[in-house]
Amino acid sequence: MKHCLTIAGSDSCGGAGIQADLKAFSANGTYGMSVITAITAQNTQGVFDVQDINPSVIQHQIEAIFDDIRVDAIKIGMVSRPETIEIIAATLKKYPLPPLVIDPVMISKSGYDLLQPEAKKALIEMLLPMATLITPNLPEAEVIVGYKIDTIELMQKAALDLHKLGCKYVLVKGGHLENDATDVLYDGAQFHLLHSKRLETINTHGTGCTLSSAIAANLAKGLHVKAAVEEAKAYITEAITHGFKLGHGVGPVHHFY
Ligand code: PLP
Repeated sequence: MKHCLTIAGSDSCGGAGIQADLKAFSANGTYGMSVITAITAQNTQGVFDVQDINPSVIQHQIEAIFDDIRVDAIKIGMVSRPETIEIIAATLKKYPLPPLVIDPVMISKSGYDLLQPEAKKALIEMLLPMATLITPNLPEAEVIVGYKIDTIELMQKAALDLHKLGCKYVLVKGGHLENDATDVLYDGAQFHLLHSKRLETINTHGTGCTLSSAIAANLAKGLHVKAAVEEAKAYITEAITHGFKLGHGVGPVHHFY
């Protein structure tokens, strides 16, 4: 059995964050573990409150896992504050690093800031260079590179610029462009364009969390990055296709076991 770790925020309604990550790890045939960075009070209609976890408790969660258990892949999601980012980077550096997928979570679909603006610099300087793969969507990529991205050519330029930050692979997700979604995967030498049909549904809560966790699970199982991304895309496409109504707002994607 391969072991995956998510370092991310809790979503009380279970659609995104830690809860989505653990479901995706499990559904993709791995054992899931979690380091919780923040607790959100959240439902399908929005995020209402956030409590950041003390850096020392984040450190101790990471140490408790690594001092005892082999970790085959890590996914990092919501990291909210500079202090959170600093302690994660410093603590992970004490151990051999398995494949690391970073989903640079910034704003929830409902418009709530999940990354404080002052944490952007720490994310770029301390965490992104450690990543095997980063998986920004277009608004997140725009915040990091500092220009508007609205064509495939600009997605490729952004992938080049993001790669210069030090991560090995970049997946710029094109779901926010109109028409069918094309994602750009860049490995430092070649671009791979990954096409998928646009799915007509509002129930997409947790899409980004689920995709990055499915990729991490595939990396833990030994797949190369391109294959890990392609298989995870097939998984998220099914999960979105079967996204369902929950509560009164944006429902979650459906995990398949
Ligand atoms: N809440 C938490 C804790 C998250 O980590 C994320 C991840 O992006 C979200 C909410 C946002 O999810 P979504 O934008 O899919 O609603």
